Amino acid sequence: MGGTFDPVHLGHLRLAEEARRILGLVRVLWIPAGRPPHRETPAAPAEDRLAMTALAIEGNPAFLLDDTEVRAQAPSYTVATLERLRGILGPDRPLVLLMGADAFRGLPTWHRWMEVFRLAHLGVATRPGHPIADIGMSPELAGEWRARRVAELPAAPSGSIADFPMTALDISGTALRRLLADGASPRYLMPDGVLDYIRSHSLYR
Ligand code: ATP
Ligand code: MG
Repeated sequence: MGGTFDPVHLGHLRLAEEARRILGLVRVLWIPAGRPPHRETPAAPAEDRLAMTALAIEGNPAFLLDDTEVRAQAPSYTVATLERLRGILGPDRPLVLLMGADAFRGLPTWHRWMEVFRLAHLGVATRPGHPIADIGMSPELAGEWRARRVAELPAAPSGSIADFPMTALDISGTALRRLLADGASPRYLMPDGVLDYIRSHSLYR
């Protein structure tokens, strides 16, 4: 589960939790992006986004934090992260890249995106305002989606796309940053510990 997590919120947590149950995942590795190459520089420093993610997943033994992208000096390419994880797991164990429907639609803009399917399955969650349908997808992505879409992930290590309906939570980092900048409270949309961290580190003012 990758993201900028700027800041991490309940949408991310429910996505991971529901994916774990629906897709039968043993654990979810949380990987905050260091320097995302295909979007604007995050508002909060990488170290803070890492610390907030650690606070958010605290106490869930199935959730683990991976700080590799934050520690790396180079831009964070998901395909490079998947290659690293594949190297650790070996060729046979299934690996699933989790994302929301908006991120899936943007996949063709990612570095070496077609190689993602060789390295992992994709688990794609519904997201309010971002229907999962091939209308509006680039022709290349729509083709992959039709060819690879499955109702249940096979035992194979990679190559399928499973979309799943998650509890609709219309929460986004963008909206939370706006609330904080306006001096409004984002409480009940993110874990209390993350909000405490934001306040004590004066983030998103
Ligand atoms: P921003 O508004 O800054 O882009 P965000 O809320 O989209 O923030 P990201 O870190 O960009 O958070 O997203 C990480 C991953 O989580 C992406 O794959 C995204 O699609 C997914 N995601 C984020 N929020 C939700 C949500 N409310 N429902 C479903 N998926 C979500
Ligand atoms: Mg986003």
